[in-house]
Amino acid sequence: MKNIVPISSLIDLSGKTVIVTGGAQGIGLGIVYRLAEAGASVMIADFKEQEALQSAKDLSDKGWKVKFVKVDVSQEKDVKKMAEETVKVFGGIDILVNNAGIYPASLVEQMTAADFDKVIAVNLKGVFLCTKYASEQMIKQNRGGKIINVTSIDALHPSSVGLAHYDASKHGVWGFSKNVALELAPHKIWVNAIAPGAIETPGVTQGKPLRADILEKFIAKIPMQTMGQPDDIGKAALFLASELSSYMTGAQIVVDGGVLLS
Ligand code: NAP
Repeated sequence: MKNIVPISSLIDLSGKTVIVTGGAQGIGLGIVYRLAEAGASVMIADFKEQEALQSAKDLSDKGWKVKFVKVDVSQEKDVKKMAEETVKVFGGIDILVNNAGIYPASLVEQMTAADFDKVIAVNLKGVFLCTKYASEQMIKQNRGGKIINVTSIDALHPSSVGLAHYDASKHGVWGFSKNVALELAPHKIWVNAIAPGAIETPGVTQGKPLRADILEKFIAKIPMQTMGQPDDIGKAALFLASELSSYMTGAQIVVDGGVLLS
């Protein structure tokens, strides 16, 4: 057998530098936790300053290497600064996790053009901008890299009405992921996606009234009969960030408690 990595090294991310957008809380924080635990230096890139600083402090107190940079992923100048700051603080970028996303609910008949633009700007353009500046650095370093895009089961199949703009953005991220996987493969930069189902995060549990209604119906359909936790996505991200997924690019892992079957 060729190229066998010892099992003890398979999830060792020592020496790797990671950016996790939207890493202050929820799924992003679940991902930050596992990648930092695996030894990576992790930059939380979020615009929620208080929460991000607290999360960075909590994990740093464990002896892990976690810092924070303030960014709105829909703003090009912020994203450029995010990449520069990560290189300045940690010396490079090896792994990018595009996780920041918003999911306001609105029926199309009530949706304004501004509502639509906002969701696309954060969820889709944000993924493009972060991928552009992080992959530019990865190519310059010439040591490969990994990009992990947090999509949604809504990138494959609508979960409920009221999310047309969101579903458009997430289908877009999945299409973008596949094309960029092709483009970046010659540079040994592997691009994959994780499609979560319903995960218990502040964004979901502190959602607006329409969301509570949507959520109740949705949970009733989950074969595993429970919502997922941020760590369920953190573990999938660890798989994609590590040597465990050495021969994967352009793939999407569904982590949804079986709900796409229902
Ligand atoms: P969350 O609890 O709302 O956390 C997301 C974090 O990203 C928040 O700190 C948020 O700040 C931040 N953020 C939002 N817009 C940003 C921007 N423009 N620039 C930088 N940071 C920004 O969300 P989550 O539930 O963990 O979801 C994370 C990702 O998973 C999203 O892409 C979402 O679409 C996807 N997802 C979630 C679920 C689920 O059930 N939770 C299911 C499928 C897919 P604010 O709180 O101020 O917005």
